[in-house]
Amino acid sequence: LRVRASSSPPPENGVENLVIIGSGPAGYTAAIYAARANLKPVVFEGYQVGGVPGGQLMTTTEVENFPGFPDGITGPDLMERMRNQAERWGAELYQEDVEFVDVKSSPFTIQSTDRKVKCHTVIFATGATAKRLGLPREEEFWSRGISACAICDGASPLFKGQILAVVGGGDTATEEALYLTKYASHVHLLVRRHELKASKAMQDRVYNNPNVTVHFNTEAVDVVSNKSGQMSGILVRKVDTKEESVLDVKGLFYGIGHSPNSQLLEGQVELDHSGYILVEKGSAKTSADGVFAAGDVQDHEWRQAITAAGSGCIAALSAERYLVGKN
Ligand code: FAD
Repeated sequence: LRVRASSSPPPENGVENLVIIGSGPAGYTAAIYAARANLKPVVFEGYQVGGVPGGQLMTTTEVENFPGFPDGITGPDLMERMRNQAERWGAELYQEDVEFVDVKSSPFTIQSTDRKVKCHTVIFATGATAKRLGLPREEEFWSRGISACAICDGASPLFKGQILAVVGGGDTATEEALYLTKYASHVHLLVRRHELKASKAMQDRVYNNPNVTVHFNTEAVDVVSNKSGQMSGILVRKVDTKEESVLDVKGLFYGIGHSPNSQLLEGQVELDHSGYILVEKGSAKTSADGVFAAGDVQDHEWRQAITAAGSGCIAALSAERYLVGKN
């Protein structure tokens, strides 16, 4: 589906200046900057998340920490604004998934579900997907008790002052647990193994915090709800004895990691051991000339809308500089 008929002329020799893949804060911010620089970017928005463009924030309600919205804004509203801004400046938007890319020979080839595009530069802003446990009632309670982002949701009225649980034993889970102690009355950390995988420093912080209880050899089995359908607890099971019990919590946070959506670039640019695209420090440059990355697909640490948007800006300006240098 071509969302906006572009008024721009066809690209020179059929080769576009810039293709942007992804429609989260990173992709749309890159599109705004690139369109304002008159690069006439082509954006493949994808529709993997909920069948609509806009990325991860389409799955949330209030975003309270994006600057410029003192009263908060819903995720879909924020993304619609970014999309409109990109469109207004002339970005050409296609609601199509990219299925194949070749960035080994120039010009690059980008193949979506509906078309093949040649381009001089490409920005990967394909985001990351929070890993889920796949609990039987997970869909029912997603964003209604289950979350994968403590920084995003910890202060929400749903969780403030409540007893909460975090699943996972690595740095992400321990960070989430410690962060949540700012708002929760108590936090239970559910660890499948008999030890924490987190760094020694994080382990010390967890063990020294009286508001965190660590449950080893323990896995979450399902959500338990009350008569009004709200989460009232988590059914947990001991991995060794298989003994089951209910932990009374009002929220469950997943801290079991994210999967970066970088499969299209496997074997073509350098990725780290978890699949995140490696970029030069403080830049959006990947190991391949003319290929840039922005947002969560290259950031395993911060994973926020504002950091994704900031890196989208850097990627677009870098692509512009690269194109100027080429001519
Ligand atoms: P994403 O938002 O993940 O977007 C990636 C885009 O790439 C998607 O549109 C996807 O469809 C597209 N894509 C992927 N593969 C392809 C392909 N092959 N072809 C075409 N398109 C493709 N952050 C905050 O700062 N504040 C919050 O309150 C907050 N709340 C959150 C709540 C939830 C439930 C979640 C899951 C996250 C939240 N975050 C929040 C984190 C924030 O959403 C992410 O950090 C941010 O969206 C990352 O932006 P991005 O542009 O890198 O990627």
